[in-house]
Amino acid sequence: YRAKRDHRGICLFDAKMDAEMRDRRRLENALRKAVEANQIELAYQPVISTYQGRVSSVEALARWSHPVRGPIPPDCFIDLAEECGLINKLGEQLLHRACREACDWPANVAVAVNLSPLQFQSGDLLDTVACALKESGLPAQRLQLEVTEGLMIKDVDRTFRQLEELRSLGIAILIDDFGVGYSSLSYFERFPFDKVKLDKSFVDRITTSKTSQAIVQAVAGLGEKLDMAIVAEGIETKAQARLLTEYGCTHLQGYLFSRPLAPQSVRDFVSETKVYAHG
Ligand code: C2E
Ligand code: MG
Ligand code: MG
Ligand code: MG
Repeated sequence: YRAKRDHRGICLFDAKMDAEMRDRRRLENALRKAVEANQIELAYQPVISTYQGRVSSVEALARWSHPVRGPIPPDCFIDLAEECGLINKLGEQLLHRACREACDWPANVAVAVNLSPLQFQSGDLLDTVACALKESGLPAQRLQLEVTEGLMIKDVDRTFRQLEELRSLGIAILIDDFGVGYSSLSYFERFPFDKVKLDKSFVDRITTSKTSQAIVQAVAGLGEKLDMAIVAEGIETKAQARLLTEYGCTHLQGYLFSRPLAPQSVRDFVSETKVYAHG
């Protein structure tokens, strides 16, 4: 009886795995088609400078609407693109799109593009970025690149060399989701990041946790000494914005200020010349 049950268990398990594999393969094919047709779009989320109280940049966030399933979260399709070898093509496409779309906005608004660690392994990232700037005509000073600690796992020396080269074009380099996972303070000895984006989890706890408050203040102090801007992301309440400003964060981003916007809405949002004060 026991053997039979196990046997059936295995069959059911196999069938489920099989269905998941087929499902995944279908999603992968749909994604490949969408990339080939240049259908992955970008939404842009404003980042507010606390000092000036205005929008200083917007972050480009990938958006894919599957023809049948509707919107698929970027965490999901970016992973998929990384796993099935599509990320370099997609990443290049999004860089071009972001640079092109940013040309329609006021010249004091920069655009930040997220990069996958795999784009650094392709060998032609520098050319790709230079080409996106040249074709669009966007000045390098208006492009920022967001990288994550995932980048620092493999081939660290080569990675930092590539970051240096990108930076020497005049592009600001941000470290995203800082303070969780394996991100390490020693990165700052290796490379002068222009901006540090504190992970949202610190923002979530900022009003309730003394530890998060101390961490944010310490990172902000480091930023001041090392001449790095400190961005707090995922801000949803005024209380959070007030504290983060008080603790020395130089930039704020989150639903409190704006959800990610369609490219044609960025200009209006920026020119509403809203001055944010949380004092
Ligand atoms: P990320 O770069 O850390 O982006 C921040 C995420 O937080 C975005 O989710 C944004 O919409 C969300 N967010 C912003 N403000 C708030 C808030 O106040 N509350 C909450 N709950 N969430 C907020 P999204 O667009 O789903 O992107 C998720 C992740 O997907 C990104 O994290 C990034 O790692 C990745 N991603 C998105 N676009 C791209 C891309 O073009 N290339 C690459 N390589 N990765 C991308
Ligand atoms: Mg980001
Ligand atoms: Mg982030
Ligand atoms: Mg993230």
